[in-house]
Amino acid sequence: MVIKHADFVKSAVYEKDYPEEINSVEFAFVGRSNVGKSSLINSLTGRRKLAKTSKTPGRTQLINYFEVNNECFFVDLPGYGFAKVPKAMKKEWGKTMEIYLSSQRNKLVFVLLDIRRIPSGEDMDMLRWLDHFDVPFKIIFTKVDKLSNNEKFKQLKQIKKKVAFKNSDVFFYSALKHSGREELLNYIGETLAE
Ligand code: GDP
Repeated sequence: MVIKHADFVKSAVYEKDYPEEINSVEFAFVGRSNVGKSSLINSLTGRRKLAKTSKTPGRTQLINYFEVNNECFFVDLPGYGFAKVPKAMKKEWGKTMEIYLSSQRNKLVFVLLDIRRIPSGEDMDMLRWLDHFDVPFKIIFTKVDKLSNNEKFKQLKQIKKKVAFKNSDVFFYSALKHSGREELLNYIGETLAE
């Protein structure tokens, strides 16, 4: 897939406020705060400031819709795991996510995990939640430029003790070097063509 254009459409909490569905699957991105979600969306779309929209105060807890090539949506889901978030806000996050995950939207979720970290309790909850709602998902390891091949190998071995996956089933991305971009875009293109 070649991204010709990508634009912010709207922010939403409730399903009635999501944009009218394009006749295709939508691709949602989720991960703990600081995992590199905005950087990845920007790198993927080739729009340096696209996902910044979702970082503007008041929008961080919302679902942000981007339209790509008039062909599909990319959905920026609110990040989790902020250090000192009031309980009420966490509850709101949970509601917003539950509304999205249980919605009838035809979706595929990319769960971003920082390759340098062992998945946190919240990451594990997220993966279990996707299972629970029967939402198809794929894992993307972010910031892979920060590790050597040898370190990467060791780290994946540790991560696999918590999360079962095959190396051929996950994506590796560096927003800094834009590596992994083509594989991910190809996968998105193939999924759209199915
Ligand atoms: P978000 O909170 O998940 O949206 O994370 P950001 O995209 O804002 O990234 C958090 C920090 O990680 C920023 O300082 C980024 O520059 C850095 N970062 C994001 N992706 C990469 C990457 O692929 N490689 C490196 N080296 N740094 C990254």
